[in-house]
Amino acid sequence: MSTSLDLCAPLAVLGSDVQVPLVSGEKVGYAALDYAASAPALQRVWDDVAAYAPYYGSVHRGAGYLSQLSTDLFEQSRRTVAEFLDLREDDQVVFTRATTDSLNLLAGAVPAGTRVFAFETEHHASLLPWQHAGLEVMYLRAPRSHAEAVAALDAALTAHSSGPRLFCVTGASNVTGELWPVAELTEVAHRRGARVVLDAAQLAPHHRVSVRELDVDWIAFSGHKLYAPFGAGVLAGRADWLDAAEPYLAGGGASRTVAREPNGSIAVEWQSGPARHEAGSPNVIGAYAIAAACRALTEAGFDQLERREQALVERLEAGLAEIPEVTVLNLFGGYAPRVGVLSFVVRGWNSSHFAAALSAEYGIGVRDGLFCAHPLVRTLLGSQDRQPTQCGAPEPSLPGERSLNAIRVSFGAGTPEEHVERFLAAVRELTTSGARWNYRNEGGRCVADTRR
Ligand code: PMP
Repeated sequence: MSTSLDLCAPLAVLGSDVQVPLVSGEKVGYAALDYAASAPALQRVWDDVAAYAPYYGSVHRGAGYLSQLSTDLFEQSRRTVAEFLDLREDDQVVFTRATTDSLNLLAGAVPAGTRVFAFETEHHASLLPWQHAGLEVMYLRAPRSHAEAVAALDAALTAHSSGPRLFCVTGASNVTGELWPVAELTEVAHRRGARVVLDAAQLAPHHRVSVRELDVDWIAFSGHKLYAPFGAGVLAGRADWLDAAEPYLAGGGASRTVAREPNGSIAVEWQSGPARHEAGSPNVIGAYAIAAACRALTEAGFDQLERREQALVERLEAGLAEIPEVTVLNLFGGYAPRVGVLSFVVRGWNSSHFAAALSAEYGIGVRDGLFCAHPLVRTLLGSQDRQPTQCGAPEPSLPGERSLNAIRVSFGAGTPEEHVERFLAAVRELTTSGARWNYRNEGGRCVADTRR
């Protein structure tokens, strides 16, 4: 293991001492390198939740002490998130289930006739809710540089200059990890009269995010990618469109008064503010866990965490660059900085086979596939016109043939250097010596064949 990077210690996360079986029967410490899907819980988050758990009670509806305490903590969690995101004074924090939920909520809340602009490279959670909500969407072609992205948005908004418009953009790609020029894009959008929602699912866990500085109108992220896996997410930002919209869900909590009319119908007066879109009993543990993660990351210091993560990114990039069979996927030509998320293909290997071997033979957990960003991955692989193979087909692709899916490695504040070193050693060994085991397709997944 290399200790040459001279980094601060990783933050304590749950699962760091979990041993998993290899196909050989040996056991090794699990190397969790799939943070982009779901990050492990920070120990601090777990401890804070455990300390609160005995005091758990209903929110906004009980007269008892624990209900009042839980209501206070729920509302305090909102304020902690607002501070963490550096929101403007009048911005709202709505607790949701996750980023997908947040963006669907916003899609249902924009004024009628809003036209949405999104690059086709977005994660499906940022790409699909708008069309699903019946809005007109203009999909912008994959840009190959930051400057191209800014120019394409400018041209699209200039060509469609009337009516309410919303631009949705991701802060960091869940496929390549590359950062997008959010501040520049927002400046153009605002200059052309459009609003902006930032999908920060992959950005917020890795970078300090200031809504005030970026000037975006809304931001969405997920607790389970921010080391707080208790089923909550956030949509935060401007109150006006949210307060003017129909509630996301109809029910208790979102309604201020409900009365029977003389004609027998029911008249409802809806709440304004976050409660309008939080009908039903809220997930107070989830919200509290997100606030705990915000506190823990802020106290650890994003500067330190970013420095550490960037050192691991550089080590990973340099290590992969030495392996000729590996091609790293970059939308912006390899020059854009990235968070700890990187996808690649290996010449001569089906990605599912490769990922299965990393797990079965080395105890390394990565992800393979199209990562809920099919248009982006197909653009990066040059395979737009071909259907992906069944996930898990274990046959290596023909030499020279392009892969139809990719392998993603991702990490964060809890990742020790040893995981990155083990990963690089495993990739080197697999590409030079091949897999030591046989693999087969089981229900669409590639698995080690342990049948006798
Ligand atoms: N946006 C991005 C960029 C993501 O990476 C993800 C999750 N992979 C989502 C949105 C959706 O997040 P969730 O599954 O937590 O709703």
